[in-house]
Amino acid sequence: MEKRSMNHSNRRARSISPSPGRDNCQQSTGSVDKERIQAAVREILLAVGEDPDREGLRETPERVARMYAEMFSGMRKDPCEPLQKTFTEKYDEMVLVKDIGFESMCEHHLLPFLGKAHIAYVPDGKIVGLSKLARVVEILARRPQVQERMTEDLADLVMEQLKARGVAVVLEASHTCMTIRGIRKADSLCTTSAVRGIFRTNQSTRAELMALIHSPR
Ligand code: ZN
Repeated sequence: MEKRSMNHSNRRARSISPSPGRDNCQQSTGSVDKERIQAAVREILLAVGEDPDREGLRETPERVARMYAEMFSGMRKDPCEPLQKTFTEKYDEMVLVKDIGFESMCEHHLLPFLGKAHIAYVPDGKIVGLSKLARVVEILARRPQVQERMTEDLADLVMEQLKARGVAVVLEASHTCMTIRGIRKADSLCTTSAVRGIFRTNQSTRAELMALIHSPR
């Protein structure tokens, strides 16, 4: 098979975000190469012994290319951008946004993992629109991911962009690479958490957070 040039596959660029040096604000430029995905999917079908030209599969490479473009659309968005517009408020208690649903793609198997994000922060004079936190989750989820890194990146982003006194992020997700293949543990749920600032140093703040996350609605 023909090998493409390296700069084709390695095109990544720093974002234009006003936070220079922040890896978290990175985004890719250019558009998704759908034709390349189509060719690859056709190869996969051939490799498993299928006939990619039979009726049911004829449009599959194109469909899969569109799907990947959507699932990885967060590659081309700046996750810091939704947090740029903040409001000055004296409120200095915990803000918690619970149950932010997300769908991501495990970068090890390219299979979806699905779950909920809970984000809490204690502001230091700056608050942000609540839907903006969900936007950041969406952008980071729509990239090839591992749950652990997504959790850390969310905490760092909110902490740095809001200059908060503390941030805590808890992610709960079911990984289809665990449930439909390998050891097939259908009910397994993976929980990850990252705490920054006051949530790291103050145990009662952390206890308050856990009680709030697990309280029934
Ligand atoms: Zn996986």
